[in-house]
Amino acid sequence: MRLSRYFLPTLKEAPADAQIVSHQLMLRAGLIRQEAAGIYAWLPLGLRVLRRIEQIVREEQVRAGGVELLMPTLQLADLWRESGRYDAYGPEMLRITDRHERELLYGPTNEEMITDIFRAYVKSYKALPLNLFHIQWKFRDERRPRFGVMRGREFLMKDAYSFDIDEASARRAYNRMFVAYLNTFARMGLKAVPMRADTGPIGGDLSHEFIVLADTGESAVFCDRKLVEMPAPGGDVDWDDLQSIVDQRTALYAATEEMHDAGRFEAETAEGDRLSARGIEVGHIFYFGTKYSAPMKAHVQGPDGKDAPVHMGSYGVGVSRLLGAIIEASHDEGGIIWPDAVAPFDVVVINLRANDAAVSAACEQAVAKLEGLGKEVLYDDTDERPGGKFATADLIGVPWQLTIGPKGLAEGVVELKRRATGEKLSLPLDEAIARLT
Ligand code: ATP
Ligand code: MG
Ligand code: MG
Ligand code: MG
Repeated sequence: MRLSRYFLPTLKEAPADAQIVSHQLMLRAGLIRQEAAGIYAWLPLGLRVLRRIEQIVREEQVRAGGVELLMPTLQLADLWRESGRYDAYGPEMLRITDRHERELLYGPTNEEMITDIFRAYVKSYKALPLNLFHIQWKFRDERRPRFGVMRGREFLMKDAYSFDIDEASARRAYNRMFVAYLNTFARMGLKAVPMRADTGPIGGDLSHEFIVLADTGESAVFCDRKLVEMPAPGGDVDWDDLQSIVDQRTALYAATEEMHDAGRFEAETAEGDRLSARGIEVGHIFYFGTKYSAPMKAHVQGPDGKDAPVHMGSYGVGVSRLLGAIIEASHDEGGIIWPDAVAPFDVVVINLRANDAAVSAACEQAVAKLEGLGKEVLYDDTDERPGGKFATADLIGVPWQLTIGPKGLAEGVVELKRRATGEKLSLPLDEAIARLT
């Protein structure tokens, strides 16, 4: 992608109302633009990162047995009357009336709709266990939208829903999502800690929030320090029996403010391991049994021939919130430092003298080689000053910068810089390319 033909509207300064660094950097690096309170347009660079995060979430859902579908953003109010949540949900729900005076709402979550789909087709335990997920825009009319995409009103969520014949099977489904979440966040370079959580308006009795520690986080959290450094289990696990992996983590104290018990924290955690911090909720999983299936009559026939309401759980990831969480965890004075796995481009090729035919030819050759090797390349072919080009490359946080100028070219070398460490190497182009692959 040639920068001169791209759309990358960077800003020298962030607007004064952007209070936290991730929001400031997302605006300055041209990732998003606010269109209304808590409602954002995704500019090309931001969309690239959003899509990569979404893809990691999707792959880990599929690895854990999830099946993707796509439900609409608009839902009928009557469906929510069946579960009793239409009135209970309150002003966070955006309610809409169509031309026929039919009441609709912009979905804040999809328990009712997925239960409706399930009950229309599934009648027997033989189709279970089943886990259906989608990645779709949600709307919640937050009282205080703030911090950019961190607390938007319109936001992208991955929500999965599990269906099982009984509680034991539903707990296995819960464990699969628990492990999938550990792997998902680790792939993005995040340390996300599962914490015992309140179930809120979704309801139910078993629930964990996945929390990324950050000073700017909106939740107060308390946990055993050992949980923060515990490595993710990875994909090579027995997906039918994950209890020991889950137990290893849930045995250590970790709770959000609503669930916190100071006495237990002190009793269960050595003083040096007690961590009181702030955190960002990037995911939330629930087991809620028959809370929706009973009132909505989503029944299945068991092996004994008897009908019973199906056991359900739901599992959310804040896909768009993750951009903010990743930037909070990974930036410096110069700008964003994207982890390789979610970066909008793999490498930016910086042409130090765009009006020099030899330099431009060398740059184009480098771009072609890298693209031939499957790399996503941003080519800065603009006539901006070198200082401005370096500042932009640092700001947008592409993991590698490959700089080509007349002086180096005469000596047969280019400069390769790793954004995260600032380490620079002067080396022949072929060697630089070899290091990038
Ligand atoms: P919060 O406590 O931050 O309001 P929540 O508990 O209401 O979130 P859930 O219903 O658990 O949210 O939704 C699943 C996930 O969706 C959350 O863990 C979070 O990552 C994301 N999410 C929720 N609300 C927002 C929002 N307003 N903007 C961006 N992401 C959100
Ligand atoms: Mg909320
Ligand atoms: Mg919450
Ligand atoms: Mg939650």
